[in-house]
Amino acid sequence: MPRYEFRCRACGDTFEVNRPMSEASAPSACPQGHADTVKLLSTVAFNGGGGTAPRPAAPAGGGCCGGACGC
Ligand SMILES: [Zn+2]
Repeated sequence: MPRYEFRCRACGDTFEVNRPMSEASAPSACPQGHADTVKLLSTVAFNGGGGTAPRPAAPAGGGCCGGACGC
């Protein structure tokens, strides 16, 4: 289940919420009960792995002259 980070604009606290993607944009109250929170878009982590590892890029090598296009 994806994890979303929220920040409370009332007390400045940040907290994480695990919720289904279908509820990703739903508001969430902070642990102190404030309802004035904003969702931070930067931290959406699947599988709970490294967390900071970016999605693997396309494999390097080959490119245009990898032999498929004959250029
Ligand atoms: Zn708060």
